[in-house]
Amino acid sequence: MGKAKRIKVKQSILFTKTKKDISSDEISKNAQLLMRAGFIYKEMAGVYDLLSLGLRVMNKINGIIREEINQIGGQEIFMSSLQDKTIWEKTNRWSDQIVDNWFKTKLKNKSELGLGFTHEEPLARLMKNYISSYKDLPLYIYQIQTKFRNEKRAKSGIMRAREFLMKDLYSFTSSREELDLFYEKAKQAYINIFQKCGIGKITYLTFASGGTFSKYSHEFQTISDAGEDIIYLDENRKLAVNKEVMTDEVLDDIGLNRKNLVEKKSIEVGNIFKQQARFSEPLELNFIDKDGQKKPVIMGAYGIGPGRLMGTVVEVRNDDQGIIWPKEITPYQIHLLEIFSKNKAVTAKAEEIYNTLQENGIEVLYDDRREIRAGEKFYDADLIGIPIQLILGEKNLNLGKCEIKYRDTREIVVIGIKDLLKVVQEFYQD
Ligand code: ATP
Ligand code: MG
Repeated sequence: MGKAKRIKVKQSILFTKTKKDISSDEISKNAQLLMRAGFIYKEMAGVYDLLSLGLRVMNKINGIIREEINQIGGQEIFMSSLQDKTIWEKTNRWSDQIVDNWFKTKLKNKSELGLGFTHEEPLARLMKNYISSYKDLPLYIYQIQTKFRNEKRAKSGIMRAREFLMKDLYSFTSSREELDLFYEKAKQAYINIFQKCGIGKITYLTFASGGTFSKYSHEFQTISDAGEDIIYLDENRKLAVNKEVMTDEVLDDIGLNRKNLVEKKSIEVGNIFKQQARFSEPLELNFIDKDGQKKPVIMGAYGIGPGRLMGTVVEVRNDDQGIIWPKEITPYQIHLLEIFSKNKAVTAKAEEIYNTLQENGIEVLYDDRREIRAGEKFYDADLIGIPIQLILGEKNLNLGKCEIKYRDTREIVVIGIKDLLKVVQEFYQD
């Protein structure tokens, strides 16, 4: 690996500092922990910045999403947030009575613009330029892009922001059958994404409202008391139904038995829809089929909030000391804590270990701060929540040893320095 590629971050130059307390107006656990540990900054209610640690986590989540969506044929784009009112009028979604969370703005000449809360309308219009025949289909287009929603309540930290990232994927197919096929692939991709982000075991496929365009949609709901949704879960079948649509008729229809269901609070981390011709018809996104007939393109939409996902992970993976990151989305893989002594050889050895780990592609956050006591370093490391803490102190180093603390189990082991790389690589392998 070339030198330029290595990430060198020593904590002495990391501009964010941990905090014991934050302002009392932030009541959500995820934002509290992320603010205290220096991952995010709160601009105002429902509006947050990502700081360097937070951005690293977000980039990893987005990396996992990209990998899975590219795998099923997704092509990534990036659309504007400023949106043309006329296309929204065509689908009858410009009205504030129909969509109650619009942020709107005006040009100097007073004409109105929308700040996108989703992208079906602009994307359908865009695709008119590229789709004319069945030969142009299917297409799967996605982006990871900023959405604006004037949410009424913003009490869930980064899980319900007024400006947030969304991965929105849209499928364009020539028939319902083709949509159904892709929909199942997208479902599996979502299962993989939540698995890789460390919440797979507590995230359930959930029948939910299909809106005006289909019978049901499917949500991915993560069990958590911090959730704003209520689902009824069949734990054996790993299938749930959102309270919003639960009736005896629906249960019959989807083959769930009321007796087997338990009520849970949960967080909607993803939502997939079969939109059929709901948007393509009014926007005249048509194609000429094999039989020579003009037909509306069949659409599907598939959303994930990477910020909500990050907040969810923090909600379900923390203890009284701080955050516990899953290995796949941890900001760094190793938190190296150098315990200072008067002996300069300790620093030299710590630097050497730091370099060796980096040369082997391990991401290290190196707490090299001299003025900070060991106890404070441990406190910070537990709060930040990197899965492995590597504690380098004089006594152990003199014996050719080092201490490893696993954040999750709090287990501490002493190992030979010569085995360190192997131990770390094995931990991060599976
Ligand atoms: P909710 O019911 O929680 O308001 P929604 O059903 O309106 O969400 P969708 O339109 O389905 O949201 O958006 C797709 C995904 O985007 C959601 O599953 C969620 O992960 C994420 N998301 C939606 N709203 C927000 C928000 N305000 N902040 C962060 N992420 C969000
Ligand atoms: Mg939804």
